[in-house]
Amino acid sequence: MSDIWQRSSNILLMVFATSIIWMIFGTVKALVFFNLALLWTVFHHIRHLVMLERWLQLSDHTPASIPAGSGVWDDVFAHLARYVRQHSQSQELLSLALKRMQSVTSAMPDGIVILDESDRIEWCNPIAEQHLGIDLLMDAGQQITYLVRQMPFVEYLAARQYSNPLILKQTRMQNLIISLQLVPYGFNQKLLISRDITRFEKIETMRRDFIANVSHELRTPLTVIGGFLETLSSSENLNPEFTQRALVLMTEQTTRMQHLIEDLLILSRLENEQNKVKEKKVDVVRLLHGILQDAESINAGCHHIKLNITSQDQLLGSEEELRSAFGNLISNAIRYTPDDGEICINWEKRNGQGLFFVQDSGIGIEPEHIPRLTERFYRVDSSRSRETGGTGLGLAIVKHVLNRHDAHLEVTSEVGKGSRFAILFPSKRLISEDGINAESK
Ligand code: ADP
Repeated sequence: MSDIWQRSSNILLMVFATSIIWMIFGTVKALVFFNLALLWTVFHHIRHLVMLERWLQLSDHTPASIPAGSGVWDDVFAHLARYVRQHSQSQELLSLALKRMQSVTSAMPDGIVILDESDRIEWCNPIAEQHLGIDLLMDAGQQITYLVRQMPFVEYLAARQYSNPLILKQTRMQNLIISLQLVPYGFNQKLLISRDITRFEKIETMRRDFIANVSHELRTPLTVIGGFLETLSSSENLNPEFTQRALVLMTEQTTRMQHLIEDLLILSRLENEQNKVKEKKVDVVRLLHGILQDAESINAGCHHIKLNITSQDQLLGSEEELRSAFGNLISNAIRYTPDDGEICINWEKRNGQGLFFVQDSGIGIEPEHIPRLTERFYRVDSSRSRETGGTGLGLAIVKHVLNRHDAHLEVTSEVGKGSRFAILFPSKRLISEDGINAESK
């Protein structure tokens, strides 16, 4: 109520002054004065309305640009300035929150695309650009199905059943397998979340292949043993020669399964990250003499095996694992080299590194197989591998041992001439005769 009296004070003053003039100077002068005062009041309001209109037409509504008013307009403009200030503050807070939201989503490992009610792209983070081959600057406002054209995705979007993610194997980005999940929100809007699952899919494929391979490896010996056991148990008066042969073959198959299980256990121990390398000084020279003795006793003079040692350096690592790696390479050289062939085992120091290699004059390997030799169960010639007692896991074991010893394998080979499997150990793993680490020399 007091506001109304305050705002009307000018008019009241005008009426009061008019009454005084009327009493002193008469009606005509009072009317003239009243009209002039009324005119001045109307002009005052029109002037401020024009100022307000001009300000409203400005493109930038800052509190500083608000005109200064007088009378009641002073309060109106002051209120307007406060409102504009509050509005720009909340706008600033909003754009800050938006920027923070964008930087958070940009840092996310998943891709995020915001789709409007007609499935057009409103915004996406850089990961989504990578996953889906989108360029936000060019593609904003485009229908998502123009860019992700695969039929399964188009159907997934149309089905509006978003509880399960969709796996896309052939994306615009080569060799990328992504999982896509649509999440509806707001008014018919959607979030499209993409995740790179290439690694998981590869691991899953490896797991499936591994189980299939192990099952396949075990099935053959089990079929042989099962067949013989059935014959032995169902037939009376069996030929002793047949029985003897069956027993020999069953023993062979059992040994094959034993080797496979042993190699699988070695691999699983090597792959277990909890199982750290038991680092000790390994006397390579003594170790190689031991392996050679074992190899020669199995080989029974069928090959000419030479041991060439030019370094007395020891290695820092696990003797058991190194024996397994060196042993596998030597046994492969024997198994893939025809009788009378030459096998040379070397241990030397080259350019500060420890170099171990096995060179054979065997069957050799075609170049396209070399990059895949260390894969589990990869064989160039499956029948030769099995005939000679191979499990297909030897070089996979070698690879794991070398990884655990910071070493790497180099394979060179020529079909019909032979192969060379070399291991290079870094200087930090070498301990020279005087017991000093080669790297710290
Ligand atoms: P396997 O038990 O079959 O020998 P490995 O993992 O030890 O399994 O070797 C994988 C494959 O690499 C072998 O099947 C064989 O085809 C090839 N290979 C390995 N060493 C040699 C070699 N010295 N000469 C020729 N081929 C080899």
